[in-house]
Amino acid sequence: MKPSLCLLLIAMIFPMLTPTLSAQKCRSHANWEEKVEQDPQALLRREQLQNFTEIYQDNSSSRALKVTIPVVVHVLYNNSTQNISTAQINSQIDRLNEDFRLMNADSLSSSHAFWPYVADAEIEFCLAQQDPDGFATTGITRTQTSVPYFDDYSEDMKSSATGGVDNWDPTSYLNMWVVGFHNDSLTLGFAAFPSELSSDPELDGIVFRHEVFGTVGTAGSNGFGVNDNGRTATHEVGHWLNLFHIWGDDICGDDLVNDTPEHEEENYDCPSFPNRPNNSCGSDQNGEMYMNYMDYVDDDCMKMFTGGQKLRMHAAIDGARSALKTSAGCESSSVGIRATESIPFNLYPNPADDMVMVDFGASQQNISASVYSLSGTLQMRINQKTGSSIQLPVNALTSGCYLVEIASDQGVKTVKLFVR
Ligand SMILES: [Zn+2]
Repeated sequence: MKPSLCLLLIAMIFPMLTPTLSAQKCRSHANWEEKVEQDPQALLRREQLQNFTEIYQDNSSSRALKVTIPVVVHVLYNNSTQNISTAQINSQIDRLNEDFRLMNADSLSSSHAFWPYVADAEIEFCLAQQDPDGFATTGITRTQTSVPYFDDYSEDMKSSATGGVDNWDPTSYLNMWVVGFHNDSLTLGFAAFPSELSSDPELDGIVFRHEVFGTVGTAGSNGFGVNDNGRTATHEVGHWLNLFHIWGDDICGDDLVNDTPEHEEENYDCPSFPNRPNNSCGSDQNGEMYMNYMDYVDDDCMKMFTGGQKLRMHAAIDGARSALKTSAGCESSSVGIRATESIPFNLYPNPADDMVMVDFGASQQNISASVYSLSGTLQMRINQKTGSSIQLPVNALTSGCYLVEIASDQGVKTVKLFVR
């Protein structure tokens, strides 16, 4: 019998004894490993951020830490169930603000052996008040997609070309995509690590299945009852700010945080304290910190970040994600809100040399096509009364990345354009 088949049979007969075969709830680390296979330079980028992190930790005492991160939630829906309510989105933002400020009602008691390690991470979140162009926004985009369920191994949800929606400037916003995953997928979500922001900006952000987003609405549905308290996002934002799984993704692995005990492996469900006291990695009698947000336990069982994890996250905010500190995303806009409905269109070729075609598929009225630099400076604008397409002469633009905003009576949509 092949070992894998043998293990599978054991897993079927003794599901509680084979936790390593349980659901890979979070794909952040697996995606990272795949990335390294394709691009070994990713290891170097991670090492560079680690070096920065260690210097930051050594000089952290005099720093002002508190920061507010602007969030944009991209709801991608194929059916009305996937088009989650604003209340569900607000409940997720609330959960993040509680967990990252140690305001969660279920935090450890001050008599618990791990209480001395519990930290207020001093990170807050707002739904964006203004978009990258300075327009007022709800911080929520809603886009109907022809994709019924996204593959949790793909990044298709991150591009309008593949049925998704492009992220907003990832240096200034935390982008969250809320999507439908296949029913047979047990993945809850995945995040991009900050060391990849410079090399793959278009992939930066966090993806969630809607059943684990927030605490109301569809949260907990379709068999995800233990993930109904918004803690998937707390965990994934941890990754987005450079935290690793507390078991270091290995047997007795290292999460590079000094004040978390080494874990033999991940924990599931909700163990009782102490869990694995004096474990094989050399923990003390208190065992493993299974109630940490970076383990795999049920939502109602995870309750804490440590001071070491807090510093590591702030190092990411001070380093790779430093533009967040000057982002205007949380400030209200003096410019009026614009239509939120999205116009479906194709833009090609992209990258382009001299001419770009914007094809709507059907006739539109009062079309306006604007090309902006990434800093928001208008480069050109073409107006057209009616038509099913519009042409943009981009031959006068210097090489680089631009934002193309198409507006018509049907709505507004912005996409990225690369000019060679
Ligand atoms: Zn994870």
